[in-house]
Amino acid sequence: MIRELAYYANMTRGVYRLLRSPMRADAGILQRQMARRESCFLENAAQRVFANPRNPYYEMFRLAGCTEGDLTESVKRRGLETTLSCLAAEGVCLSHDEFKGKMPLVRAGRHIPYNPSELLNPATRGYMETVSGGSRSRGTPTRKSLEINLYRDIYDELRIREFGLHKHALVQIAPILPSSGGLRNCIGRARAGGGIERWFAVRGTLRDSGHYRVLTNALVAMCRLTGASVPRPSYLPHNDFLPVAKWIAERKRQGVPCAMRCSVSPAGRVAAAARGAGLDISGTIFFVGGEALTEARRAAIESAGCEVYPGYVISEVGVIGASCRQMKTGDCVHVFSDAVAVVGRMRSAPLSGVEVPSLMFTNLLPFASRFLINAEMDDAGVLEPATCQCEYSAVGMTTQITNIFSYGKLSGQGITLHGSDVVSILETSLPRRFGGAPGDYQLVEREAELQTELVLRVSPRVGDIPATDLHSFFLSELRRCYGGTLAARLWNHSEGFSVVREEPWATRSGKVHPLHVLGMPKYRHLADEVPTFRQERPV
Ligand SMILES: [Zn+2]
Repeated sequence: MIRELAYYANMTRGVYRLLRSPMRADAGILQRQMARRESCFLENAAQRVFANPRNPYYEMFRLAGCTEGDLTESVKRRGLETTLSCLAAEGVCLSHDEFKGKMPLVRAGRHIPYNPSELLNPATRGYMETVSGGSRSRGTPTRKSLEINLYRDIYDELRIREFGLHKHALVQIAPILPSSGGLRNCIGRARAGGGIERWFAVRGTLRDSGHYRVLTNALVAMCRLTGASVPRPSYLPHNDFLPVAKWIAERKRQGVPCAMRCSVSPAGRVAAAARGAGLDISGTIFFVGGEALTEARRAAIESAGCEVYPGYVISEVGVIGASCRQMKTGDCVHVFSDAVAVVGRMRSAPLSGVEVPSLMFTNLLPFASRFLINAEMDDAGVLEPATCQCEYSAVGMTTQITNIFSYGKLSGQGITLHGSDVVSILETSLPRRFGGAPGDYQLVEREAELQTELVLRVSPRVGDIPATDLHSFFLSELRRCYGGTLAARLWNHSEGFSVVREEPWATRSGKVHPLHVLGMPKYRHLADEVPTFRQERPV
């Protein structure tokens, strides 16, 4: 309770300071950062790693036989990305489970003491933490400093130039607290002078979100008192996105095009609601994130005459990139190489055994929340040069990532859940409560016509248990995981979670993996181990 009060007191102070800060959308800031990204990396490494033996990377560099001088020499001679790839091959990297402290850090047979807080940037005082969903595993909260929030102005301005958003009405579907993203978007645009016109949100039950509604309204009221144009959230009826489609259609009728920020699934639902009700929302631009933008999902949104462009954010790392107007296929973004260096490697995905092109992230900004080197976030994607002529290429962001997907975590409907939390429910909590064994329960993330859906497959071997009991037990366990309260609220609202009494899917060699996440089938050609959605063969 005291921790929560301190958290919101801190957030209130952060919101106030953010509101009071002038815009920092000067293009010169970005140019200077692009020019000094390599020296930023070397300065970060010198100050936070080589001068601090408690930093876990200190020992990783030592065991890899790489001194500070070697690092400087390599970056100057071979460039940053090549150096990072070499370092990863020498063990200077963190898997997601190591990063989360769920797996011991061992290099060259030596155990390296690891405290996740050593990676946090001591120079940034946090004002807005990312979502914390429950008590069982709070994870390591990410502190968003004022500087990093202000730096995002540059990306907002780039997007506005790229898409010509000066005349658009801005609207969002975003969660209320404890997620701070929705409020932060509103404040960002209000500071720029425009403001988000309408904020739609999922209500949840009074018990799980009542106090968050009160807190959100209080912060919105504070923003308004300072003169900032921040809308109060409008709550959507259960499993109904029609109010959003109606609002957009009405603005369009008045001659105002709309630009919407939301996750991929709600974007699909809004487009479908418009089509179903015969509403014209054509010309609306959707900026989406949080989940894989598959071709089917893109087609569903475009069939309402809308455009859709993904952004890529990982809360533990920061903003990774965004799509430009010429990226019309696939889940493709320009890498924001001013702030992050991304390299890839093939590896076996921890929960499914599939070979995936895993991405590793390195922070470059001196005020980033963490200083990570080659940290995996259980995301995969293909890195390649961007050849488009756009605002992003013009500022030197000439690398793109295509076909991004999560292989070790669930990101259905925009809320990321750590795979091993969910696996512990599947392999321990469910068998303990209802009987059966690991392998009898499997969570499948699948692409339905309108949204991402989660299906809990329960083997008929596990006695005759009503699906409603399994349904409510799974969601109650989920609420205790990091991010779980929000996920349960959203899945309930959109009826995106169901239970079936069917055998879990097995791979061709008979393995049953507890999680099957969206996006995997794309890499079928890389391994023979991937179950497909059509291959519904019981063991
Ligand atoms: Zn481009």
